[in-house]
Amino acid sequence: MRKNSSQTLTNLIRQDANRFESLKQEVMQLDYFCKGTVLKRMMKCGNQKCACHRDPARRHGPYFECTYKVHNKTVNLKLYPEVTPLYRAATLQHRKLKSLLTRLERQSRVALAHLAKQKLASSPKA
Ligand SMILES: [Zn+2]
Repeated sequence: MRKNSSQTLTNLIRQDANRFESLKQEVMQLDYFCKGTVLKRMMKCGNQKCACHRDPARRHGPYFECTYKVHNKTVNLKLYPEVTPLYRAATLQHRKLKSLLTRLERQSRVALAHLAKQKLASSPKA
């Protein structure tokens, strides 16, 4: 490899490490997370004569729940309105974690490719 392109590769490898490190810092700053979506629901009650059965606008609520899947089964966690923001924030943190993992993996692949190229260039050919 020519000196110039090996210098470029060294720079890229350093850049890769910096990017990976800053993504790791973002992971470190995550708060409690939970998978799922916080939904607001209006419900019908058990009384068939109640107005909620005829008119969707007169359903009861709102009720909040956090829904997520475990082994392909949907779990509904009922939430008191007061704690809804807590869970909503946690689901956002979870989404952030997933996105960070995707970016960490993508960055890892780029870095590995650069490292592999460097290794091959420095190892004597048989
Ligand atoms: Zn009702």
